[in-house]
Amino acid sequence: MIKLYNQKKDCCSCTACMAVCPKKAITMKPDDKGFSYPEINDKLCIECGLCTKICAFQNGYSTEENLPEPHIYAVRHLDEKERATSRSGGMFAALCKWIFTEKNGIVYGVGYGEHFRAVHKRAENMREAFEFKGSKYVQSDMGNVFSQVREDLKAGKNVLFSGTPCQTAGLKGFLKNVNTDNLYICDIICHGVPSPMVWDDYLTYLENKNNSKAVNVNFRDKEKLGWTVHFESVTFESGIKEFGEIYTHLFHNCIMFRPSCENCKYTNFIRPSDITLADFWGIGKAVPEMHDNKGVSLILVNTKKGEDMFAAVSNDIAYKETVKEKCMQPNLQHPSVFSAETDSFWNDYKANGFNYAAKKYGILNLKGQLKFKLKMRLKFKIKVRERIAGNE
Ligand SMILES: Cc1cc2nc3c(=O)[nH]c(=O)nc-3n(C[C@H](O)[C@H](O)[C@H](O)COP(=O)(O)OP(=O)(O)OC[C@H]3O[C@@H](n4cnc5c(N)ncnc54)[C@H](O)[C@@H]3O)c2cc1C
Repeated sequence: MIKLYNQKKDCCSCTACMAVCPKKAITMKPDDKGFSYPEINDKLCIECGLCTKICAFQNGYSTEENLPEPHIYAVRHLDEKERATSRSGGMFAALCKWIFTEKNGIVYGVGYGEHFRAVHKRAENMREAFEFKGSKYVQSDMGNVFSQVREDLKAGKNVLFSGTPCQTAGLKGFLKNVNTDNLYICDIICHGVPSPMVWDDYLTYLENKNNSKAVNVNFRDKEKLGWTVHFESVTFESGIKEFGEIYTHLFHNCIMFRPSCENCKYTNFIRPSDITLADFWGIGKAVPEMHDNKGVSLILVNTKKGEDMFAAVSNDIAYKETVKEKCMQPNLQHPSVFSAETDSFWNDYKANGFNYAAKKYGILNLKGQLKFKLKMRLKFKIKVRERIAGNE
């Protein structure tokens, strides 16, 4: 019988094994932490071994097309509306516009399913791709997008695919025998992917607290205090918009990540993509003239195709080339180090649920909430002072 992985940390859930199976014997099933894993139906499996051969997470990823060194840029979209609705500098929006208008193509990215579940989707125009903007700090459900990408490429379409590096490496492995001349790939620098179950439970907690359904979410809302501050926000049917950092705190604490994130293969400059998108932390020192707290993207151009993509959008962006030393961040150097309390967090979570775990390991308690309110007030005062001084 085929074994897809020995330990959970060997599977990133990219879905390549499921997509390649000629007998459709593999399905993805969530475990008790809400992370999905492939399961083989023995009755359908013919033991051809394609599923294990294709696994980029365990067998390595192709770097043949990578330039000897990536070109590194700080980038801001010239259209302020695009930047305001993007996570950082809006480079992804520029690439979407290019693939739709110049290439008559398709974009795959992460949007929302029911109850704001993060889901990989296919978009045929800017309107459909709008929901891909902004980071969803939770593992996305890939569904069957790998097969859809293959069909689009076979039909001669141009395709822009975006995802975490483990997802893009998985896609590249899956498409090894397909003509990928028309495929353009973006990955992100990734801190780690939290459990979809925790995200869902957090949203339910907020809905119960507000006695109203969520109608909009923003994992990192830069509207009120700008790009450098990390708060999530949820808007309810009642019209109330609540800012918080309960989820953000758990995210930064590395306490609810997928086990494979501790074993990440992609925390380096040899990327499984044509272009890497990220936040340009340290922009104030690296390129001070570009820093206005509205968001600057860190862009790594990794391949010849990436160079062509960058050139194609260069009229829509302001950019400045820089060097590795000025853009270093932890997840370009090593996988996130999980909280020492990760196991006890999960034990408590399974026994007592979200509220209990978020109080014990997060800031869902009186002290934490007071601290958050004080922090918001302080940051707001600083922002007002900066505005008055004309620094923003
Ligand atoms: C889980 C996660 C962890 C991250 N960690 C870091 C980090 O440590 N350091 C850093 O600099 N940047 C990190 N980022 C990337 C960063 O937040 C922005 O996505 C990046 O700066 C792009 O911004 P943008 O303005 O160009 O694009 P935006 O318009 O904001 O586009 C967002 C892009 O990210 C994709 N995306 C959104 N959510 C997900 C998801 N759950 N899974 C896969 N793809 C997704 C969309 O499809 C789209 O391509 C992370 C993003 C995610 C989703």
